[in-house]
This record gives sequence, C-alpha cells and structure tokens, in this order.
Amino acid sequence: MKHQKTKITLLGTGTSQGVPVMGCKCEVCVSPHAKDKRLRTSVLITHGDTNLVIDCGPDFRQQMLQQNVDTLDAVLLTHEHQDHVAGLDELRSYIFKQKLAMPIFAEERVLRRVKTLIPYAFTKQPYPGAPTYNLNSIVPGPLHIHGVFIKAIRALHGNLPVLGFRIKNFAYLTDVNFISEEAIEQLQDLEVLVLDALHHNKHHAHFNLQEALEIANEISAQKTYFTHISHSMGLHEVINKKLPVAMALAYDGLSFNFG
Ligand SMILES: [Zn+2]
Ligand SMILES: [Zn+2]
Ligand SMILES: [Zn+2]
Repeated sequence: MKHQKTKITLLGTGTSQGVPVMGCKCEVCVSPHAKDKRLRTSVLITHGDTNLVIDCGPDFRQQMLQQNVDTLDAVLLTHEHQDHVAGLDELRSYIFKQKLAMPIFAEERVLRRVKTLIPYAFTKQPYPGAPTYNLNSIVPGPLHIHGVFIKAIRALHGNLPVLGFRIKNFAYLTDVNFISEEAIEQLQDLEVLVLDALHHNKHHAHFNLQEALEIANEISAQKTYFTHISHSMGLHEVINKKLPVAMALAYDGLSFNFG
C-alpha cells in the first residue's frame, strides 16, 4: 500500500447543545471569540483522496460546507447519542453525488439505533430518493477502511460501551469517563490525544476537567486536547492558560498532520 499522509481536522468540539447554548447569556455564550464557538463533536480524516468522518451530528452539513469536503467515503460512529448521529440523513448529498450507499461503521447496537433513527432508509421498498446506507458492524480491534488503518478502542461512557479510534499516532476518545488499563496500553506513543472533558463538575458519563487531566497524564501523549466542552467550562483563553504545557482545550477547525 502506498504511504499517504493523513490530515485530521476537529470539526466540532462542543457538548451536545453546542456553544453558545440557545438563549444563554453567560460570558462564554456571549463571547465574540471564535474559540468559544463550538459545534457538536466530529472529526474529519483525510488520507490521500479518502475522506472519513467520525460521528455525524446535527452540525454535519455546516461542518462539511466549512471544510469544503467534496466527497465522503465512510462514516464511523463512536456511539448512538443524538449529538453524534443526528446528521445521518444529511449524508444524502454525498450519496446522490457519488451514487453509492454510504458505508457506516459502528457497533451492532449503534447500527440498530441508526435503523430506528432513519427508518425510511431501511424499509423493504424505500421511496424514490431515499438515502441509502451500507451498515458495517465493527468490534474493538483493527479496521481497514478505504486504505486507512484504524484501531477501534473500547471505553465507557457512563454505563454505555463506546468506541475510541486510533489512526497512526493520533487517538480520539470523546464521550468517555472510563478508560481501562488495557485500552491505555493501546494508547501509548501518541503524538496527539483528543479526550473528553465536559466541564469542572462531576458528571455520570463524561470526564470532568480534573479527571481528564489525570488520565491524560497517565496516557502521556506528546499533546492532549480536550473536547466535548460545555459552556460551563469557562472562556477558552482563560482555562487554556491554567493547563499544563502538554495539554490544551481543543477548538473547532484545529488540525494535525501525520506522515
Ligand atoms: Zn456527545
Ligand atoms: Zn452559556
Ligand atoms: Zn454521548
């Protein structure tokens, strides 16, 4: 296989409501700073001519237009929460242009949720113009998707088993609050780790900032960026200044290149 460079772009770094939150007048939600505006979490992986996205939330259309993504080869899903799957119907633009059933890679349970979310795509005789999908069940372990080598890593999001993904020396674990020792072993020698850190208070299904700092220290990637951020985290610039040098808050549009 020809060696290709890989570019990873964070399309969104906000929690389920996004930032600003509709109707909220807190200092973060009224901040004019671009880094205080966060779409729902998603990642674009560009590898040669191949484009993959991790998660497809309610901001998917806006994210693809902002990044000028002309073709899309597949979608990977971390889990089935609405802020990660609400944009699946929007894939129809690529489905029609490319005349293919869009490949979706997710765990069996997540694929079942996809079928109930967009049932009109999975009926025996879908209406003319209904989007078409090619559902692929995955489990933790290695995956090859359009020439991109990806490792799916198990983590927990409250009681829900979810997947993180490692591509080269980049790893992405959004919506998690438990990473096992076994998973940590698979997260060694990272240049960049992107990790869930919701806000400061304890949460039943997300790492708060303190917990995220502790686990990031244990994993010890060269650089860790925090994502899935709530408006209660505080202003980007203010919080960022308090973090250790090897750690920072992520922001929308942040990108990394891997050889
Ligand atoms: Zn989420
Ligand atoms: Zn707010
Ligand atoms: Zn979630």
